[in-house]
Amino acid sequence: MFNLILFGPPGSGKGTQSEKLIAKYNFKHLSTGDLLRNEISKKTPLGLEAKKFMDKGQLVPDEVVIGMISSALDNNPNVVGFLFDGFPRTAAQAEALDKLLELKHQSINVMLALDVSEEELVKRLQKRGETSGRTDDNQQVIRTRILEYNRKTSPVSDYYRKSKKAVMVKGEGTIEEIFKGLTKEIDSRIHKK
Ligand code: ADP
Repeated sequence: MFNLILFGPPGSGKGTQSEKLIAKYNFKHLSTGDLLRNEISKKTPLGLEAKKFMDKGQLVPDEVVIGMISSALDNNPNVVGFLFDGFPRTAAQAEALDKLLELKHQSINVMLALDVSEEELVKRLQKRGETSGRTDDNQQVIRTRILEYNRKTSPVSDYYRKSKKAVMVKGEGTIEEIFKGLTKEIDSRIHKK
């Protein structure tokens, strides 16, 4: 299996690039944002709890997302690999993920971090807010999401830097250019297992 984390701040293009990566490599896409929005649309207890945090731009509690990822791993036993998108978002989530994978004799192969300037991020998120229909794409909530990212999520890259799994990839340019940067890093690792 080849397991990768697509990392980056809100608006860095993780969703767009994930779609292209799963089409090319057949990874199982695990986006905690999508999984949570799915729970919300089904009005499950988990979804209703998560919505309170998401609408404010705050992170959903670790135990909620870790539980969700744990079930997703169990429910997908025969995949070529997982693409984690929007997870892990805290150091505690990163540690929990390593433990969950270890139980399955698996590990993370690489963390690809999309590098985008803060100015560009705000521009993209505001533009998306005009069309996405997402209730968390307004200015105040965007600001909180970026704060949460800087405070809790950016330390996650140190975690993978320590194990030499973190790789920075240019996140500005055309969608194709960024995609090329990502596939170059994957291709140089995927056959060397
Ligand atoms: P974006 O990356 O654009 O912020 P996501 O869809 O990844 O969008 O996340 C939307 C919201 O869902 C976050 O602001 C947060 O409230 C919640 N969320 C998603 N993934 C996680 C996670 N791993 N841990 C905690 N909260 C999460």
